[in-house]
Amino acid sequence: MSEKKKELNEIKNLRSKPKKTLRVTSASLESIIYKPFKVLDHGFIRVIDYMGDDSAIVQSARVSYGEGTKKVSNDSGLIRYLMKNWHTTPFEMCEIKLHIKLPIFIARQWIRHRTANVNEYSARYSILDKEFYIPKAQNMSSQSKTNKQGREGSLSKKDTKKFLEILKDDAERNYKHYEDMLNEKQNGEIKNENKKGLSRELARINLTLNTYTQWYWKIDLHNLLHFLYLREDTHAQYEIQAYAEIILNKIVKRWVPHTYNAFKEFQLESFNLSRTATEIIKQRLKGKKISYEKSGLNKREWNELTRRFGIK
Ligand SMILES: Cc1cc2nc3c(=O)[nH]c(=O)nc-3n(C[C@H](O)[C@H](O)[C@H](O)COP(=O)(O)OP(=O)(O)OC[C@H]3O[C@@H](n4cnc5c(N)ncnc54)[C@H](O)[C@@H]3O)c2cc1C
Repeated sequence: MSEKKKELNEIKNLRSKPKKTLRVTSASLESIIYKPFKVLDHGFIRVIDYMGDDSAIVQSARVSYGEGTKKVSNDSGLIRYLMKNWHTTPFEMCEIKLHIKLPIFIARQWIRHRTANVNEYSARYSILDKEFYIPKAQNMSSQSKTNKQGREGSLSKKDTKKFLEILKDDAERNYKHYEDMLNEKQNGEIKNENKKGLSRELARINLTLNTYTQWYWKIDLHNLLHFLYLREDTHAQYEIQAYAEIILNKIVKRWVPHTYNAFKEFQLESFNLSRTATEIIKQRLKGKKISYEKSGLNKREWNELTRRFGIK
C-alpha cells in the first residue's frame, strides 16, 4: 500500500471513532478535523486538536461558572468589544494544534513566530520525502522595484520555462545525491549492499530549500490571529499567504465565527491612522486640499493613505 493511501486510511480510521466529551466543541470544526486542506503543490494543513470556541472566550471574559453565554447577539458584541479594545487574554483561552506540511524556505519564516509550540519531522532520524515546491508559471514574477522583499510583473514565457526547469532540475539532482550518499531510498530499500551510507543528519545538508518538511504546530487563538495578521497580508510572501489564507478562511472561520468576523472588522481589514494622517483626513472632510509636500508624511505613508481613502 502506498504511503498516501496509508495516511488516508489512518485519517478515515480516526474519524470513524467519535469520542464523548463534556467540553465545548465546534460542530463545524469537527466536520473537518484530521482532514487535510491542500496548500501549494504538495503541502497541507489539517486540524489535529483544539480547545474552546467563541463561547469559551465569552466565558473567560465574564469569569463565569457556567457557559458564560447569554444571547448570540451579546456574545458577538462582547467579542467585538474585546477585539476592538485589544483585550486579548480571553482569546488565549482557545488553542489549536495543526499538522502542516510546508517547504523549508516557508518553515524558516513561519518559525519566527515564537509564541507557538512546534515539533518538526526529524531529518536526522527519517528520510525526507522526494517532494519539492515548484511555483506555478503565473507566480514566477520578477523582482519588485518598489519593494526589495517582493515580486511584481511577469517574466517572459521563455524565461519562466527556463527558470522552472532550473528549479526542478536542481531539486531533483540534489535529491538524487542525497539518496546516493544515504545509500538507501525513501522506502528504506538499500541501494548498494557493499557500501556504507552517509548519516542522515549529514546527507540532508545540500537539499534545496524547496524540499518539504512537516510539523505539529500548537498555538493559542490570540497568537494565531497575530500570525494571520502578519502572514495573510499582501506584504507577506505569496507562499506563506497561501497557508495563512487556509487557516483563516477554512479553519478559524469554522472554529470561532464571531471572532473571525471581529478580527476581520477591527484588525485584518481595518487601517491604522497616525496622528498626522487623522489631521489630513479631518482637513479633507472640511474641503481643504493638502499636498504630499505639506502633509508631514513620508512618501510610503502618503501613498498608503491616499490609496486607502481614494484621495487624488
Ligand atoms: C512581511 C514580513 C517581513 C519580514 N522580514 C524579515 C526579515 O527580513 N528578517 C527577519 O529576521 N525577520 C523578518 N520578519 C519576521 C518578523 O520580524 C517577526 O520576527 C515575525 O513576524 C514574528 O513576529 P512576532 O515577533 O510579533 O511574533 P511572535 O514571535 O509570535 O511573538 C508575538 C509577540 O510576542 C511578543 N514577544 C515574543 N517574543 C518576545 C521577546 N523575546 N521579547 C519581547 N517580546 C516578545 C511580541 O510582542 C510579539 O509581537 C518579517 C515578517 C514579516 C511579516
